[in-house]
Amino acid sequence: MYTNALFQAVNQAESNTVLDPVFIKSSAQPKDFPPDRGMEVAVVGRSNSGKSSAVNALAGVRKLARTSKTPGRTQLINFFGVAEERRIVDLPGYGFARVPPAVRAKWREFIEAYFAQRESLVGLIVTMDIRRELSELDRTMLNFASDLSLETLVLLTKADKLSRGAGLSAQARVRKELAGFGEVMVFSGLKGQGVDAARRHLTDWLQITEPAARRQGAE
Ligand code: GDP
Repeated sequence: MYTNALFQAVNQAESNTVLDPVFIKSSAQPKDFPPDRGMEVAVVGRSNSGKSSAVNALAGVRKLARTSKTPGRTQLINFFGVAEERRIVDLPGYGFARVPPAVRAKWREFIEAYFAQRESLVGLIVTMDIRRELSELDRTMLNFASDLSLETLVLLTKADKLSRGAGLSAQARVRKELAGFGEVMVFSGLKGQGVDAARRHLTDWLQITEPAARRQGAE
């Protein structure tokens, strides 16, 4: 009984952990990446998939992700520090309509360079609108993660737009497609659904333990 209560209290405290992120820099080319030390987790997704909202919800802030919404001007990789040598990396979105092939090719080259170079990369979060199918570029990202043996989490975003049952069947469908590769979670940054659980993955992967992460309300 006592142990149970204690367990619940610890769980509750953990779920209130916020990451207190600090913007490090935006990089437009690999030579501008910050030092490749420690660990980082990248977040990627199709444009309008809810990536920025997910990054903000995971970090526990209202407005962290600063990706421009203008197609062609989104080719920046944004690095945020969440603890000593621990980073969340906001990768530029993809799937904009009417993006010239040259811009698309440049995006791909940049992303490939990022995956090829970053030794500190330990995990990838892919955001996907729960009402859509996995896109070809979603699969490409998941393949990069698989090739590098990264921890992987697919967030099925905007889950509040579907009933619980429809959300669970979307989750089952994507899980089946991924055939056991990575985790698939139903998520809504808007309603907070799945946020604590996803954040726990993030902090586990980054090996962030108290007191590295600040607790909400503790200050
Ligand atoms: P990004 O382009 O992938 O960074 O996507 P954003 O985070 O900017 O979100 C795209 C649109 O989806 C915006 O209009 C958001 O308000 C909306 N959105 C994002 N997350 C949610 C969510 O959890 N629920 C709902 N209903 N809308 C969301």
